[in-house]
Amino acid sequence: MTAIAVTIAGSDSGGGAGIQADLKTFSALGVYGASVITALTAQNTRGVTGIHAVPPAFVRAQMDAVFSDLAVNAVKIGMLADPGVIEAVAAGLDAWCLTQVVLDPVMVAASGDPLLQPEAVETLRTLLLPRAALVTPNLPEAARLLGTTPVTDPASMAAQGRAIVELGARAVLVKGGHGDDHESADVLVTADSVHWFTAPRHATNNTHGTGCTLSSAIAAGLARGDDLITAVGNAKTWLTAAIVAADSLAIGHGHGPVHH
Ligand code: PLP
Repeated sequence: MTAIAVTIAGSDSGGGAGIQADLKTFSALGVYGASVITALTAQNTRGVTGIHAVPPAFVRAQMDAVFSDLAVNAVKIGMLADPGVIEAVAAGLDAWCLTQVVLDPVMVAASGDPLLQPEAVETLRTLLLPRAALVTPNLPEAARLLGTTPVTDPASMAAQGRAIVELGARAVLVKGGHGDDHESADVLVTADSVHWFTAPRHATNNTHGTGCTLSSAIAAGLARGDDLITAVGNAKTWLTAAIVAADSLAIGHGHGPVHH
């Protein structure tokens, strides 16, 4: 049977992140992908020039259309834009009893442009963390979710992961990619376990879409029936190769995308 994953996220017209990165990742990993679009961004590798949010009722209409027909094995959530969209997504997850949910708490694009209204962070925290099987914050996002400052040392990263589990997420992957070590180390924290994943850091300007790609690769693994540790480990290995291969792409003039 074909494994099916759905991305609930924003469109990146430049093709490097968002829905476009998610669908390319699902496809590369042998999983059928469907999409629920939460916002349109006018964007290229240089930055975001406009955001057009989809009305919450139409986000819900897309969810109802997809989930009433497709036998979905896993869901990935990315850019959500505003509190109304978050409320619609939370209600849709409940209505369709969706629990295999990977939440990438997207807040800011690699270019520095905001993708989530500041007042929406509280809504994300209260409505979506308790509905997530896994949350995948980078270091600045973990700090924003907790209302504190970013950390980089391993003990503090694990502590922030535990604090986010206490907010209701079943598991948290705190991603160290924004640190400055020679290794990129991510920590997977659940209520009773801590597991580290490391990869050599590759210096490149082409990192647009890394967060989207990792979370959708994890969702693809879960959709195929992998356990969480296997899905995260395989996704990290795949993303590392995609970052190394990114330099051969030469797309655009700014932060280019990773290679899907
Ligand atoms: N979603 C959308 C629509 C985006 O445009 C972006 C970044 O530009 C992201 C998510 C997050 O991207 P990244 O994977 O680089 O964190």
